[in-house]
Amino acid sequence: MNRRNFVMIAAAAWPLSRVTAASGGTALEAKIVRLNLRHTWTTTMSSSQFRDTLHVSYTRDGITGHGEGAPIVRYHEDAEGARQAVESVRGLLLAADPMQFDKVMAAVFGRVEGAWAGKAAIDIALMDWVGQKLGIPLYSYFGLDRGDAPVTTFSIGIDTPEITRQKTREAADFPVLKVKVGLATDEPTIEAVRSVTSKPLRVDANEGWRDKEEAVRKINWLEKQGVEFIEQPMPAEMVEETRWVRARVHIPIIADEACRHASDIPKLKDAYDGINIKLDKSGGLLEAWRMIAVAKSLRMKTMLGCMVSSSVTVTAAAHLSPLVDYADLDGNLLIANDPFTGVRVEKGKLILPERAGLGLRAA
Ligand code: MG
Repeated sequence: MNRRNFVMIAAAAWPLSRVTAASGGTALEAKIVRLNLRHTWTTTMSSSQFRDTLHVSYTRDGITGHGEGAPIVRYHEDAEGARQAVESVRGLLLAADPMQFDKVMAAVFGRVEGAWAGKAAIDIALMDWVGQKLGIPLYSYFGLDRGDAPVTTFSIGIDTPEITRQKTREAADFPVLKVKVGLATDEPTIEAVRSVTSKPLRVDANEGWRDKEEAVRKINWLEKQGVEFIEQPMPAEMVEETRWVRARVHIPIIADEACRHASDIPKLKDAYDGINIKLDKSGGLLEAWRMIAVAKSLRMKTMLGCMVSSSVTVTAAAHLSPLVDYADLDGNLLIANDPFTGVRVEKGKLILPERAGLGLRAA
């Protein structure tokens, strides 16, 4: 490339990667951060060595709130789309009173179509700011006891039996593991994990089984392998088939890809026993809290999960974790260059920071 082209490309790329603006002491920054994975990460959907997430910081009154959203390829989102979504409401956010966060986020949800990772990044940054402004950690804001935070699973991605055994050994500190299946190698994967450990397992098929009889056969086999529940065995749209499967198995079936927002939950009630809530799907903490409330009102199990992301999103979700039955909040443990520290894990248990807001510190 000649120098003139390079300068033109660099000039074009700059505002796409990092935009800062200030207005009356309020500033908003939206930037794409590349997170490098410790291991190549494979599920039924993709295989990758890094993930790009959108990071938002919101500064006002000398306080900075941090937010993050991980765009989900399954829903046709990417980091640049998330960044553009944040830019489209820059004026609204700079002019708004952040203490009226419910009204602010309703306006953002009304203005922005899709782009749930972008909305999540805004919501988390605002709630981090509000917690710091009030001088309380977010779990206290939501009325929760940090001692009630559950154990988190550690996830084992799809790999060869040898690497699966190695990853299982590396997860020795975690009392419960989550294993990804859904490809042709389900049985060898579980057998590889079982050859190393007898601890409880939770299994995620990521929509991998399209045949309901095959799903029943596999789930009943998994139950014999000491599996506690199965997540999203069949494609999200196959609600009727999943209902048929649920009548023929004993372990709980948890919806992930089939359940993004509170309004999705009632129609899933008889097909699934519970839902996996992720801030990147819901558009942040406020909608995640509503999802937990709706699911509980329908007597469904609740779980908080995450995508591959930094400690920003994982810590935000962890602040709600005292409310749920299961946690799968290990996305930050899968990356090598986390820009922050926040929630910690001790023998699998989530340890919430007691500092105000999210309680993050720069790594
Ligand atoms: Mg899942």
